[in-house]
Amino acid sequence: MEEKAGALGAPPPYAASLGQPGQPEPAWQDPAAPPPPVIAQPGQTTVMVQQPPPVPQPQSVVVTTATMPMRMSQFPANVQCPNCRNTVTTNTHQENGTLVWLTALILLLIGLWLGCCLIPFCIPALKDTIHTCPICQFTIGKHTQI
Ligand SMILES: [Zn+2]
Repeated sequence: MEEKAGALGAPPPYAASLGQPGQPEPAWQDPAAPPPPVIAQPGQTTVMVQQPPPVPQPQSVVVTTATMPMRMSQFPANVQCPNCRNTVTTNTHQENGTLVWLTALILLLIGLWLGCCLIPFCIPALKDTIHTCPICQFTIGKHTQI
């Protein structure tokens, strides 16, 4: 310890005092140089390196397309089925959607209750269009009037 401390404190005069022309200067100083950093930090840095980096990024990608039916037009469309991955022309059929029931209710309220309130159920334009895959019958999308 005493020798190292002395070498660290004043390397130039020691090397200068040797004064030999060729070899000892670089060869002697190289092994003396590494010790200071190793002794200075015995146990601090190695512990701090191992913190797991928090990764909150993946949550930014929210899955909205997988489960929700796509909003589509009234007409059959060329789409890729999310279920069987085939590119298909959708089969469409119509269902009595919210608008049909709403219209029927309005007609009922204004007095058209002798069967006339059923008129909306006969008007395709008021109905919702359901798009299904012709291969796997998966409901790909939906067109609603509201
Ligand atoms: Zn399919």
